[in-house]
Parts: sequence; C-alpha cells; structure tokens
Amino acid sequence: MKISIIGTGYVGLVTGACLAEIGNDVFCVDVDPRKIDILNNGGVPIHEPGLQEIIARTRAAGRIAFSTDIATSVAHGDVQFIAVGTPPDEDGSADLQYVLEAARNIGRYMNSFKVIVDKSTVPVGTAERVRAVIEEELARRGLADSPAHRFSVVSNPEFLKEGAAVDDFMRPDRIVLGSDSDEAGLRARDWMKRLYAPFNRNHERMLTMDVRSAEFTKYAANAMLATRISFMNEMANLADRVGADIEAVRRGIGSDPRIGYHFLYAGCGYGGSCFPKDVQALIRTASEMGHNLRILEAVEAVNHEQKEILVNKIVAALGPDLTGRTFAVWGLAFKPNTDDMREAPSRRVIAQLLARGASVRAYDPVALNEARRVLAMDLADAPEQQARLHFACTQDETLIGADAIVIITEWKEFKSPDFMHLKSMLKSPLIFDGRNLYEPEAMTELGIDYHSIGRPYAQLADI
Ligand code: NAD
Repeated sequence: MKISIIGTGYVGLVTGACLAEIGNDVFCVDVDPRKIDILNNGGVPIHEPGLQEIIARTRAAGRIAFSTDIATSVAHGDVQFIAVGTPPDEDGSADLQYVLEAARNIGRYMNSFKVIVDKSTVPVGTAERVRAVIEEELARRGLADSPAHRFSVVSNPEFLKEGAAVDDFMRPDRIVLGSDSDEAGLRARDWMKRLYAPFNRNHERMLTMDVRSAEFTKYAANAMLATRISFMNEMANLADRVGADIEAVRRGIGSDPRIGYHFLYAGCGYGGSCFPKDVQALIRTASEMGHNLRILEAVEAVNHEQKEILVNKIVAALGPDLTGRTFAVWGLAFKPNTDDMREAPSRRVIAQLLARGASVRAYDPVALNEARRVLAMDLADAPEQQARLHFACTQDETLIGADAIVIITEWKEFKSPDFMHLKSMLKSPLIFDGRNLYEPEAMTELGIDYHSIGRPYAQLADI
C-alpha cells in the first residue's frame, strides 16, 4: 500500500520503517529539516535497536523516502499516519497544535480518498477535531461536497515501548483500531485490516471498536502502567520504614496471576515522553468533565516525590550541604536502550545535586549527546552549576575523584561491575542505587555502603 507518515520521531519512524519492511511504499515527512537530512544521509536521528538496519534495507529497496515536502507526502499516501508529538500544554492537557496542523495540511493538499490515521496519543474527541479541520480546508478549496475528496479518520494508538520499539511493532500484543460505522469508515477499516494483515498471521491481534473508545484505550493503558509503578514505589518507601525487602514482596505478589510480575519494579520514579504527559492529560480531560481522577492525581504526586528519593537518601547519608562532593551518575536516559531524555529522573537528580553544591560526573551509553543538550537548557540560568557538571565518555571516567556512585538508569552494562575496582576508585565505598541492581547482602559483605529503594537490609544489618 502507499503510506505517508507525518512526523519522523520515535513512533513515526518506527511505524514507517516497519511498514516499509513488510513491503509497503512509505513516504515519511517531517517539519524538522535536520532530522530529514540525517535520514537522507543514511543516519537515524534517534537510538532504537534494529531501526537503522531496517531503514538501510528498505531505503536501498526504494520502499522508504524522507522529505520535508508536505504536498508530495499528502499526494503519496492512500493512508496518512499522523505521528507528531502531543506534548503537555501549560495546564497539563495535550497540546494538539501539531496534530491539527498535520490535519490542515492533509486538507490543503489531498486530491483522492484518504484514510487518516491518528497514531499520536490524543484525547477523546480528537478524531472529530481532525475531521473538522480537514473539512474546513476542503470547504476553503470549494471541495466540500466533492466525491473525489472523501476521507475517514480512524484512531490507531501506538503501544510500542522505546528501546524495544521495532520488536513491539513487528510483534504487537494488540492492534487497536477505532473507526466510524458510515460507508467511509467501513472502507477505512477494511484498508487498515489489509495493512495490518501481515501482523495477524499467527492469530488475530486487531481489536476493532468505535473511535472514542480507541482514543481512550491508549490513555487508560498508560494510566494503569503508571499506577503500578507509583503503587510499588509507595510500597517500597513503606518497606524502607518497616524493614521489609520490596524485591521479596514483588516476587510474593507477582506470583499471583491476577497481579503478574511485569511492571512491578520500585525505583526512582517514571519519566519518558508518555506516562507523565498522558497521566496529566487524562486528569485534565476528567476535570473538564467535572470529574476528579483521584487515583491518578495520587499516582502523579507519588511519582513527583519519588524523583527526589535518591537525593533524600544522599542528604540523609552525607548531610544537606554537598559542597566539595563529587558524584558519579550512571544512566541519564529515562530508561535503558533509548536516548530519550524527556522527563528523565536524572534531570531532577543532577539539578538537585548541583544546587546543593556538588560536582557531577555523568555517563550514559547512548544518551550523552541528548543529555548535553537538555541539561544545558535545564541549567541555562545557572552557569556556575553547569560548570560543575562533567560528561564522561566511559563508566570508569565518572569515578575519578568521586565520593559516591548514583545509579539512575538500569543499563545492562551497570549490572555486574568489578566491585573491588569501584572500591579502589571511590573516595569511600558508597553507592546510591535508584534501580535496585545489586544484592544488599552482597554489598554489605563487600564492605560497600549501599542504599537502594525499599530494601533496608544493608542499613538494618548495623542495628
Ligand atoms: P517525537 O517528538 O519523537 O516526534 C514527533 C515528530 O513530529 C518530530 O520529529 C516533529 O518535528 C514532527 N512534527 C511536528 N509537527 C509536524 C508537522 N506538522 N508535520 C510533520 N512533522 C511534524 O514524538 P514521539 O515520541 O514519536 O511521539 C509521537 C506521538 O506518539 C505522541 O503523541 C506520543 O504520545 C505517542 N506515542 C509515543 C510513544 C513513545 O514511546 N515515544 C509510544 C506510543 C505513543
């Protein structure tokens, strides 16, 4: 099929590449010429395992193209995916300006029947706004009743996980499709079923529903996942106080199939481009309806505080004034296998350490460039603090002159370090672990002062 993808970010690029991989003819458009240049020069502007290889292969086969030319993009695709960002507005609601601009462009240039796919995460009712904007543009062109310019807007929210996005897209748990029941809607649903048929060979994964339910499903899914994390973080903070081990508790409750083991890890808070903004947007949608989502308000508040937990532990161990101290910060991306720094807990931890007078030596296997960019913005008003932030090219380089290690992202390469080497490098053997990577008992045996989340064993051993 002929597909256009509007927006070549994490979702658009993966969607475009994977649809090209299975044989479609894909045209990707973005308003950011820098991204398009990188792509046209054989690079990939984001880190996503497996993506570069697919793009190289499909480009060589002539099945994927990248451009900033919106008119050509609209003319190309029978199916137009809108995969632009929906960042939070000042009041927490989803900012739809990019989605509506993409829709306006479709209305401006379309000249045949189109299926418009809302792939971006958008609040309930957005498909109707997309439809209205396109109709407005067609009316402006004098084509309001033109049979050749009919279209249907469907909702097809994306559930991929950054870091495993290609695999998630190629082997989806489910494909949610919301469509209308009028003639154009039924035609759109048939086209979408055909497009996704190769992903359904093993068993049917497509769940068809009305448009509003599909839009809501995406928010409900992210809200549930964020709730599990904040729930475990609350339990971990209590475990710290009562002397229980949250990892043992996790295994104890995860064995119940109604609960399951997935997504039950305590840590130093969730970040990323989705959970924080989607929880906020859902709270905002509810309040516009005169309804309070009390659980989600608590989920958000707990997460906000949890991003301070590492610094609270550091202050408890070393005192509030960290002047003259140096911290080796391991992991900057909001999670492993991505370079995405949006809402990453590392940003808050680093800002607070610097504000308390400390120096920071930060390392991440893939997010260093992105971290440099966003932290320069975060610290733009504090040049004196910025001068105390050093980006290290290796894990080892962070240890030079360091008082302690602070682990924020659970990259594989952090999981089994040479602890004797760490001890020899650190001024004192001190680790603050926001991802519970090591066994507290083993750390005590090694003589390492180890602080993790919801596992007070090391501290209790001294009582
Ligand atoms: P992103 O910021 O990485 O990419 C968005 C791209 O859209 C940018 O390259 C931007 O330049 C481009 N763009 C903006 N306006 C445009 C326009 N009018 N025409 C063409 N291009 C335009 O965003 P993302 O992380 O890919 O997320 C996109 C959407 O998918 C969001 O709604 C997000 O919530 C949702 N989503 C994201 C993920 C994820 O893991 N990142 C997962 C599921 C859903």
